[in-house]
Amino acid sequence: MADRADLVVIGAGTIGGWASVFARSSGLASVVVVERGLSGMGASSRAAGIVRAQGGTPATVALGRWTIDFYRGQLSAYGTDSGFLELGYLILAVTDEDERAGRERVAMQRANGLEVEWLDAARAAATAVTLSPDGHRGGSYIATDGAIDPPRNVRAYSLAMQAAGVQLRERTTFTGLRTTPLPGGGARVVAVETDRGMIETERVLLTGGPSLRGVGRAAGLRIPAGAARHTVAVLEPHPAFDVPRMPMVFDIGAGLYWRLEEGGLLFGWSDPDEQPGEARSIDWAAYDRARSRLAGFVPLTRELGLRRIWAATIDYTPDHLPIVGPALTPAGERIDGVTVASAGGHGMMWGPGVARVAADLVATGRTELIDVADLGLDRFDAEGRSRLASDPIALPFPLRAE
Ligand SMILES: Cc1cc2nc3c(=O)[nH]c(=O)nc-3n(C[C@H](O)[C@H](O)[C@H](O)COP(=O)(O)OP(=O)(O)OC[C@H]3O[C@@H](n4cnc5c(N)ncnc54)[C@H](O)[C@@H]3O)c2cc1C
Repeated sequence: MADRADLVVIGAGTIGGWASVFARSSGLASVVVVERGLSGMGASSRAAGIVRAQGGTPATVALGRWTIDFYRGQLSAYGTDSGFLELGYLILAVTDEDERAGRERVAMQRANGLEVEWLDAARAAATAVTLSPDGHRGGSYIATDGAIDPPRNVRAYSLAMQAAGVQLRERTTFTGLRTTPLPGGGARVVAVETDRGMIETERVLLTGGPSLRGVGRAAGLRIPAGAARHTVAVLEPHPAFDVPRMPMVFDIGAGLYWRLEEGGLLFGWSDPDEQPGEARSIDWAAYDRARSRLAGFVPLTRELGLRRIWAATIDYTPDHLPIVGPALTPAGERIDGVTVASAGGHGMMWGPGVARVAADLVATGRTELIDVADLGLDRFDAEGRSRLASDPIALPFPLRAE
C-alpha cells in the first residue's frame, strides 16, 4: 500500500508542529510531520521564550498580537499551554537616535492598534524596579508582552499534534522532493523522499529553523536562511527578583535582553560580530561583555553568581523578517504545492502566527492574518539580499545568510 498524506510537514519545531495542528483543523485529513531528530530538538526547545507584540513593521505587530492571543487561548482550545506569563516589556533607548527611532516605532505600533507608550527614564526605572534610572533615555513599554516556557511549548504542540491525529515520524530525514513538470512551465510536487522511504503528497510545508537552508537545498531551492550562535544565561536568585511580575527589558542597540526566571534573572544576547555557523561553544569574552553591560543597567547583578548558561543555534533571515510563501527554484519557477516557512529567529513571538499563515496558505492558498505579498522568497536576489528594509527591532544577527 502506498504511503500517502494530504500534507507532509518537514521539521517538528514550533512552526512545523503548530502548522500541522492548524492544517488538521483546516480540514486536511492526513498530516505527516517528518523530523530528522526528536520533536523540538532544534531551536524551539532552547529559546529564551521572549514574546512581544512590539514589532518593527505592521506585519510583525500583527503576528505578535495574534501569537499572544493564541498563547492566552491555548488552555481552552487544547487543554494544555505554553506557559505564557504576562510580564510587560520595556524596549530601551540609549542614544538620541534610539529615542527618535523608538518614538517613531511607537507611533507605527499605535496606528496598528497596539496600546504601547513611551516612558521617560524615571518612569522606566520605576516600572522595571531593578533598572537604574541612569544610562538610558527610557523606552517603549506595553504591559501585555511576556514570556513562554519553550520546553513547555514543545510539549504543548506535541500533545496537540497527538490529539489532532497528526502522524509524527521522528528520526526520519527529508532528502528531496519528487515533482512532475507542468505544461506551461514550472512543476508540481507529487511526493516527498526521506531516508525511510517515499510519501506521496500534493502538499508540502518546508520548515527547519537554523537548518532551513539545508532543507531548501535538499528540495532544490535556494533559501537564504542563516544560523548563528545565540547565548542565554541565568543568574542566581535575589530577593529583588522574588516578585510575581517585573517587565522584561531589551537594550536594543547591544542586542541584550533580560527577564525574571525562577527568582533569578535570565539574560540573552546576540553578538553583532558573530559569524554565521552552528553554535558549538560558549564565547566567555562575549559573556563578560554582556554581564558588564547588564550590570550598568541592573547594578545588583554585579554580585550574583551564574546558575545556568547555554549557547544554541538560532535561525535568522537577512532582513530578520519571516519567510512565508511558495517554493521558488533558483531559476524563479514555482513548485506548486510547496510552501516555505520561517520565523527568522523570532519563533516564540511569531511562531504560532507564522504557522497559522503557513497552514492557511497550504490549505486554501490565502490568509487573512497578514499581507504575505512581501514575505516570500521572491524578495531575495541571487545573493540572498532582500529588497525590504531590515526589521528595525530585531537582535543584531549577521546580515548575510552564508
Ligand atoms: C538560544 C536561543 C534563544 C532564543 N530566544 C528566542 C526568544 O526569546 N524569542 C523568540 O521569539 N525566539 C527566540 N529564539 C528563536 C526561536 O527559537 C526560533 O525562531 C524557533 O524555535 C524556530 O522554530 P522552527 O520550527 O522554525 O525551527 P526548529 O525549532 O529548529 O525546528 C526545525 C526542525 O527541523 C528539523 N529538521 C532540519 N532538517 C531536517 C531534515 N532534513 N529532515 C527532517 N527534519 C529536519 C530539525 O531537527 C528541527 O527539529 C531563540 C533561539 C535560540 C537558539
